Amino acid sequence: MTVISPQHQFAIEIVGKLRSAGHVALFAGGCVRDALLGREAKDYDVATTARPEEVRKLFGHKRTLSVGASFGVIMVLGPHGAGQVEVATFRTEGPYLDGRRPESVEYCTPQDDARRRDFTINGMFFDPIEERVLDYVGGAADLNAKVIRAIGDPHERVREDKLRMLRAVRFAATLDFSLDPTTADAIREMSSELVVVSAERIAQEMKKMLVDVHRRRAVELADDVRLMRIIFPELDEICRESEWQTTLRRLELLESPSFELAMAALLKPLSDKSVVEKVCRRMKLSNDECDRIAWLVAHQTDLDDAPRLSLAALKRTLAHPYRDDLLMLERADRKANSSSLETIEFCEDFLARTPVEVLDPIPFVTGDDLIALGFKPGPRFKAVLVVIRDAQLNLQISSREEGLAMVLAEWNK
Ligand code: ATP
Ligand code: MG
Repeated sequence: MTVISPQHQFAIEIVGKLRSAGHVALFAGGCVRDALLGREAKDYDVATTARPEEVRKLFGHKRTLSVGASFGVIMVLGPHGAGQVEVATFRTEGPYLDGRRPESVEYCTPQDDARRRDFTINGMFFDPIEERVLDYVGGAADLNAKVIRAIGDPHERVREDKLRMLRAVRFAATLDFSLDPTTADAIREMSSELVVVSAERIAQEMKKMLVDVHRRRAVELADDVRLMRIIFPELDEICRESEWQTTLRRLELLESPSFELAMAALLKPLSDKSVVEKVCRRMKLSNDECDRIAWLVAHQTDLDDAPRLSLAALKRTLAHPYRDDLLMLERADRKANSSSLETIEFCEDFLARTPVEVLDPIPFVTGDDLIALGFKPGPRFKAVLVVIRDAQLNLQISSREEGLAMVLAEWNK
């Protein structure tokens, strides 16, 4: 017997309960696709003839949340560990006037609901009780042929919701499928319209693509359908140069990177910290994400000459919280350029033989000490602290007393 997740089990119970109350209820969309691919779905969506109010009544107001009642969507909260399942009334969507979301929805048959979905492989239903796939859009054939194809006229589907362009690239890349040529042409023609989509939704798709093992293909495909130049105009010139090939290789060579690391690998050629920050802000990334990405790009050459750096400079970089990402980025970059890995190996070796209390020792002298000595905080104050810290990291002083003596000498310089 195959083991199923608690959420999957809960979704089956939901279908059973809706069915007992006389409604049609089916698994819908991504979870059907994932099951046919032999993967456990991330989340389960149920589609039903029951109206949102009926769904809430059946499962109780306390155990349901109205996440988009106007779109017919109710979230049913599962028992501990089972998460939640979205239950949506079969619906067609009214006209899309803004290229992002429909003006209204109308309840309809499963067949019509299938046709409002984006790609054929995402447009199937599954009856978990009779274990039967209901495929009104040719999704199973495309799944077998490994093709991402818009349901219906691709131009029209992209016109309705421009995010579908990026979703097409994401599914093609992460599933390692091809992009149907007519769908690809529609995207290429309308790529510039991606700008109407919110930065957050674009960033969310980019994250999924960049952390995936197929990140190189995602970026290549996004470039092929002209979406890269819309999302990252700053990279446009690089996209036509040999540096672009190196960038693709660098992305490919990262091993299970965080989103931030993969973004840094992509934006590395921009070199300039402020340009990278501008890109990250435009994408509405969090402060932490912006900070990490910009730091990695700004510090990309810090370890180039690692064996010849002062101990202090080496320790400062290797004690930094983003150090592991920096080393991984540099390793991938060197491999992408077929350069020697010597300096990276030197750093890794240094880290292996340097205990943390030597790499990043507790400071002999802090700002509090300087204040106690009667100095006023300011630029000079900071500069003195750096000098003392460098001396400590360089092993030129070995005690707090020596540090304090050095403060006085420095201050009087
Ligand atoms: P994943 O969750 O792995 O990203 P998914 O296919 O489950 O993939 P969701 O965004 O969770 O994607 O959406 C669930 C389903 O809703 C999809 O399978 C698709 O049928 C439909 N859908 C989602 N977004 C759109 C869209 N922008 N246009 C049309 N249909 C969509
Ligand atoms: Mg999903």
